[in-house]
Amino acid sequence: MTPAGARIAAAIAAQGPIPLAQFMTVALLDPQCGYYATRDPFGAAGDFVTAPQVSQMFGELVGLWLAQAWLDQGKPARPLLVELGPGRGTLMADALRAMAVVADFRDAVEIVLVEASTALRTAQAAALAPLGKTPRWARELSEIEADRPLFLIANEFFDALPIRQFVKTERGWCERMVGLDARGALAFTLSPVALPVGRVPANRDGAPPGGFYETAPAGDALAEEIGHRIARRGGAALVIDYGYDVPGFGETLQAVARHAFADILRDPGASDLTAHVDFGALRDAAGRGGARVHGPIGQGTFLRRLGIDARAERLGAQADRDRLVAPEQMGTLFQALAIVPRDATPPAGF
Ligand code: SAH
Repeated sequence: MTPAGARIAAAIAAQGPIPLAQFMTVALLDPQCGYYATRDPFGAAGDFVTAPQVSQMFGELVGLWLAQAWLDQGKPARPLLVELGPGRGTLMADALRAMAVVADFRDAVEIVLVEASTALRTAQAAALAPLGKTPRWARELSEIEADRPLFLIANEFFDALPIRQFVKTERGWCERMVGLDARGALAFTLSPVALPVGRVPANRDGAPPGGFYETAPAGDALAEEIGHRIARRGGAALVIDYGYDVPGFGETLQAVARHAFADILRDPGASDLTAHVDFGALRDAAGRGGARVHGPIGQGTFLRRLGIDARAERLGAQADRDRLVAPEQMGTLFQALAIVPRDATPPAGF
């Protein structure tokens, strides 16, 4: 068993089955044995490849999108440039390079990186060192001052946040938990008590037996907080991730290691765990915070409207462009959602 698996099994032996969200938090973020804390998961030699790793064009266009939003809002003073979960720091480095054409934004911003993993913080510092802008780090958004305009990017961040799952049974909707089987291995189980009927969302009516629904309380709270800050102080947020607008009845939690699906419970800490992002829930949450939401729209449509075709031609990078925008690659499964103040003009691409 992996160190994270042993730690989780000991907790279950002591206190009984734990909610899936608690399992995910230890497996991904435990400072000693969590997945992100103990490895660099990216790239061909790692477990998965993200859009900033595919091509510099991704970070460049995101950087210009943020700078354009700042210009559209009349260049508000003291802007913060925040990235949630910057991975290796590739996106931010490419964004800052592209922002040379909007030098007053680049000069004005203070960069804050929200990153749980100390290993990845080191990689991010190295990526940004040549660019003449020194970032600071925060453990979460709530640590960052709220009284400044917020320009924020989150790529493949919300999918890594812990989710809760509920399964339709004869007893009603029961929460999915992680327990131990007769041999002491981690195994899924269900909460003995069903969810009160009034707590089940209306769009879950008609679920077949064994049907799922998923919630991401931490992700929803974060989207509401982003919406609240942007509504009050201005700014713009861009959330890009794979996900859906209207939930189905299937589960979307998956484990990935070395570019292949893995068993969710077998090797916690050694595989990435993600769930598809519920963009409808994020939109509602940011709206509750007081902001206006645009999208989601497909990543392919979004990048094309921002001019990726011309940039690809210039770089001779049509094959990389196709990976980012083609419907059968990342263009449709990945979605982009923008959060801006209610009175702001629609952001570029939306
Ligand atoms: N945005 C990057 C990396 C995506 S992977 C890219 O596109 O390449 C997810 C990133 O979020 C990693 O950097 C991971 O360490 C970080 N992360 C995941 N959960 C987090 C949390 N709860 N708080 C802070 N950082 C987190």
